[in-house]
Amino acid sequence: MARILIRFSEEQVSEPIASQIIIEYKVPMAILSAHINSKGGEILAEVPDAILEKVVNAFRQRGVSVSVPKLIEVDSDKCFSCGSCIALCPVEAISLAKDSTVEFDKEKCVGSTCSVCVDACPARAIKSIKQNGADYSAKDKVKKS
Ligand code: SF4
Ligand code: SF4
Repeated sequence: MARILIRFSEEQVSEPIASQIIIEYKVPMAILSAHINSKGGEILAEVPDAILEKVVNAFRQRGVSVSVPKLIEVDSDKCFSCGSCIALCPVEAISLAKDSTVEFDKEKCVGSTCSVCVDACPARAIKSIKQNGADYSAKDKVKKS
């Protein structure tokens, strides 16, 4: 499964764009988190790798911003449990375990569209990694069909 971050504008949020795409492409889309109100918002979702490009293009053809964020990976050998990343994470995806090791909740993390923890870590223990080699960050990847 690949993770995508879908951003809806104020104009798009009242339209059934996501449900139209799910039906049209028969996409088994898993919604991991959603932060939406009448002003717009974003959905973090997972779609099968095989139809990732099709789904990304379908949203973009409808004018919706979609990114395929890199995932966050922690090198536990470098981490010294300072807690800096925990305090900064906007979605509470990082916590301290009972044994004082840092735990990342990958279901909550929005990946490289945030990267606050990557920049904040004094030990350089956190890095961004590409999802399955995917790179749909550039708008010129949109294909018309
Ligand atoms: S990338 Fe952002 S959302 Fe993900 S764990 Fe780091 S601070 Fe939290
Ligand atoms: S900021 Fe870095 S060193 Fe500090 S707890 Fe987070 S991963 Fe560990």
